[in-house]
Amino acid sequence: MQLRSLGIYNTEVLSAIERTPREAFVPAAIRHQAYENKALPIGLEQTISQPFVVALMTQALDINERDKVLEIGTGSGYQATVLSHLCRRVYTIERHRPLLEMAERRFEELKVRNITAIAADGMKGWPEQAPFNRIMLTAAATHSPPQELLNQLGDGGILVTPVQLNTGEQVLRRYRKESDDTFAIKDLCDVRFVPLLPNVVTRNTYTEGQLREVQS
Ligand code: SAH
Repeated sequence: MQLRSLGIYNTEVLSAIERTPREAFVPAAIRHQAYENKALPIGLEQTISQPFVVALMTQALDINERDKVLEIGTGSGYQATVLSHLCRRVYTIERHRPLLEMAERRFEELKVRNITAIAADGMKGWPEQAPFNRIMLTAAATHSPPQELLNQLGDGGILVTPVQLNTGEQVLRRYRKESDDTFAIKDLCDVRFVPLLPNVVTRNTYTEGQLREVQS
């Protein structure tokens, strides 16, 4: 109801959110806050977005049930699960392996079977699976999304991403591919996301405490 009053009119998006139990994607200690409309920590300094932003980005992606969707930044797996209810298959990439493994465990427990997840650098996309009809970044790209991701978008495809501007502000930006090198671009609203960073984080850089935080 709250999301509807905030301008989420797409009933399929609303029902995908209803079908996705957010409490299953946040650490036990803050589970009681799962249905508040705010971002929450998921360990390793990352956050699960506010439900309104998840809904808005999902709605902006304008997904069809036959679409192949790429998500960059699996995090808790919440956004990927919402997407999975709306399309044929979600491919999702995370640079922190411990987060990815937790997310995969959740997909299994919730019997979500149309998500393929890997630990990799999402800035390079997923060339073996390209092209994608839809691409969503859930970490902020500096100035513009990586060219490789724009290349992996199919004709008429849509990419939604937070973009970090020179002014220090971040906007949610939507790209629609009109030809190989022309895009219609629209700014949707101000947002605040963690940055998109290169490379996969190597396993031995995590402390025991950090790993416990992810797995709790
Ligand atoms: N979609 C997530 C929210 C993720 S927060 C959810 O629903 O919970 C952003 C995530 O992007 C973080 O987990 C961060 O590690 C990841 N990330 C940042 N840069 C990345 C990159 N180059 N490739 C893959 N993941 C990246």
